[in-house]
Amino acid sequence: DRLVSATGATEEDRVDRAIRPQRLADYVGQPAVREQLGLAIEAARRRQEALDHVLIFGPPGLGKTTLAHILAAEMGVNLRVTSGPVLEKAGDLAALLTNLEPRDLLFVDEIHRLSPVVEEVLYPAMEDYQLDIMIGEGPAARSIRLDLPPFTLVGATTRAGALTSPLRDRFGIVQRLLFYGVDDLSQIVSRSAGILGAPVQGEGAREIARRSRGTPRIANRLLRRVRDYAEVRGEGVITEAMAAAALRLLDVDGEGFDPLDRRLLDVLINRFDGGPAGVESLAAAIGEARDTIEDVIEPYLIQQGFLERTPRGRVASAKAYRHLGLTAPSTPGL
Ligand code: ADP
Repeated sequence: DRLVSATGATEEDRVDRAIRPQRLADYVGQPAVREQLGLAIEAARRRQEALDHVLIFGPPGLGKTTLAHILAAEMGVNLRVTSGPVLEKAGDLAALLTNLEPRDLLFVDEIHRLSPVVEEVLYPAMEDYQLDIMIGEGPAARSIRLDLPPFTLVGATTRAGALTSPLRDRFGIVQRLLFYGVDDLSQIVSRSAGILGAPVQGEGAREIARRSRGTPRIANRLLRRVRDYAEVRGEGVITEAMAAAALRLLDVDGEGFDPLDRRLLDVLINRFDGGPAGVESLAAAIGEARDTIEDVIEPYLIQQGFLERTPRGRVASAKAYRHLGLTAPSTPGL
């Protein structure tokens, strides 16, 4: 498993639950998202209505699931959790929806991967709190309509563009999570270290934050590895030097890139002359799925200006050449 991968692993789940913020006030960063959701929650609570349907998009590990839990806690309602690929049949979704209490939240992770039949069931459910289900088969089949309690659908997706527009249009609130800055990540690292009982110095937390690819999940993961290192090789205190040494050992470089990030840049520069290279060719060359490149690897590389997405394919920037210790051609990528 990739150390800086942003997708959660089960081994981390227990620790994760302990450090995951429970209330909006503990959710670090993303000021615009916090303010808008805070307002929507307050308004819905005053009217004693269900919160509008919420769509949250952004790369893995930025806090989509955390926000769903927070929304339920702030609304004082139950949260049911499922995901697009898990809901195979219309009946799977119907079973979940008919078990909701009024104003409950249903969280659907990876909502862009819902099957079309399940999506069809979702439209009237979201719009009119109604469920149309088919009973029986062939000529004897008939459709029955059930009323659902008012509920809130919270959908999460890594790519808003992957959602069909009828589905996207049914969300009253759409929020995009951005990569976190070093200050926010330092705060997250310090907060998590406090909960874990790991002594961390301010500069130690910043060193971890700088190398976390803008992602809270990675920051927390690196913190745990650095903590191990500091306990075994040092006195347990996470200083800047201790963090730097641990991260060097873990092969996470100064930009927070791991071997996979560097391999992508290396292949793009050395095998495709800096690009433009199509994402399929890059995927084949590094032996990863196209989705992994698009959802996990490249968003941060693009945001940091190492990679550009052009109509003709991916292009390495001068920054990417420098990072690999190479000299950029005068017109990079051309
Ligand atoms: P996603 O659903 O987007 O993949 P998660 O919500 O599972 O991401 O977040 C991963 C972990 O990162 C959480 O367990 C939580 O501890 C931490 N985290 C995410 N966002 C924040 C935040 N804004 N403040 C503090 N911790 C956060």
